[in-house]
Amino acid sequence: MRKTLASRVALAVCLFSLVAVAGGQEPARSTVWLEPHRDAASRLLGEALASDFAWQRLAEVGDTFGHRLSGSRALEDAIDWAVAEMKKDGLENVRKEPVKVPHWVRGKESLEIVAPYPSALVVLGLGNSVGTSGDGVEADLLVVGSFDDLDAAGPKVKGKIVLYNVPFTTYGETVRHRGAGPSRAAALGAVAALVRSVGPPGLRTPHTGALNYDPNVPKIPAAAVTTEDADRLQRMVNRGTVRLRLKMEAQMLPDADSFNVVGEIRGRELPDEVVVVGGHFDSWDVGTGSTDDGGGCVVTWEALRLMKKLKLRPRRTVRVVLWTNEENGLRGGAAYRDRHRDQLPNHVLMLESDSGVFRPTGFGFTGSDAGRARIEGIATLLRGIQANRIGPSGGGADIGPSVEAGKVPSMSLEVDGNYFLIHHTPADTVDKIDPMDMARASGAIAVMAYVIAELPERIR
Ligand SMILES: [Zn+2]
Repeated sequence: MRKTLASRVALAVCLFSLVAVAGGQEPARSTVWLEPHRDAASRLLGEALASDFAWQRLAEVGDTFGHRLSGSRALEDAIDWAVAEMKKDGLENVRKEPVKVPHWVRGKESLEIVAPYPSALVVLGLGNSVGTSGDGVEADLLVVGSFDDLDAAGPKVKGKIVLYNVPFTTYGETVRHRGAGPSRAAALGAVAALVRSVGPPGLRTPHTGALNYDPNVPKIPAAAVTTEDADRLQRMVNRGTVRLRLKMEAQMLPDADSFNVVGEIRGRELPDEVVVVGGHFDSWDVGTGSTDDGGGCVVTWEALRLMKKLKLRPRRTVRVVLWTNEENGLRGGAAYRDRHRDQLPNHVLMLESDSGVFRPTGFGFTGSDAGRARIEGIATLLRGIQANRIGPSGGGADIGPSVEAGKVPSMSLEVDGNYFLIHHTPADTVDKIDPMDMARASGAIAVMAYVIAELPERIR
């Protein structure tokens, strides 16, 4: 096979030189190695762009099962559906790999202004929060704009409901208040915590998301309010005392059974060397988790379906994984690492799509300089759909544990869209996603995964 490839490359070099000389240009020597892959890349892109199959599949998941929170019947039914669909697609070694996941349930919840005048607010409890008693928690409101503000308030925090009214800058910066804010307030004696939703101003949409309790501090109930209601509450406390009542039925049940879903196109020469692509199949329990992260699951899965449809079997195995329990536990990614620990040295590259499926601009890549040069070369095959930019780093929450344990090169799909306006909200539904963007993303991932799996030398 090597000989055949060498002769194909030599032929490509000759042809390329002829064309280049005829055109009066030097051949772009660095991309000669790409020539054997151009035909497959064109076919994959053509097949992806010719239909709205990916969008229709995503719509079917959300329409049929709704949200897919860990521990829910809907997630497990959707997982069984995905297994059956992968088999229908003709993928190989389709299987479920067991994972124990946290089982948090929201129940009913409400937040109201009691004084100076009764009024209901929009509220969404934070994932993993404890609930309140039946009557709820009623207390005066203290609004802070930062952890420094909280610490400065000192003894005034005791007995209050604390609202972190921190406008969205970047997700990493702002989400700290959701994650650590409840316990920081509880440490000073707060009875409940509210956070301004972690996202830009929307249409009064609250954003849920996980909190992390400090085990050394009492657990207090915590919920998100909309950016509009956070600003209203800020104005009201500036005028005088505001009293709130928060009711939440949230509770944590014993761990539940769930699964990562795996499907493959087995490699024709090096089946034990694996290129992994995927997203997380679980979602928050509002909306249908179409942007976070049903879309990422479908476009990575599509890469394999397209290869199968075009009868393209690369040198190495391409594996899709739909991870479970990213949102409130990261147990799926950890279970994959533990189950496949011995095989991680044979993981050539791992790619995750979990930034929404908007117009794809390219990929982030983390790996060696030589690997980056190869990835940048492959990306030139995606110039036609303007998805050829390779960013300085790439990774994902689900591939993270394996990437770290196995020192595996990692990538993420990069897109141009307002992900944080939608994610973790009731507005995360399939109508926010453009079928053409799904098609472009599917094609881009298919080309990238195929060529990486097909190259004579593995990416390092
Ligand atoms: Zn996600």
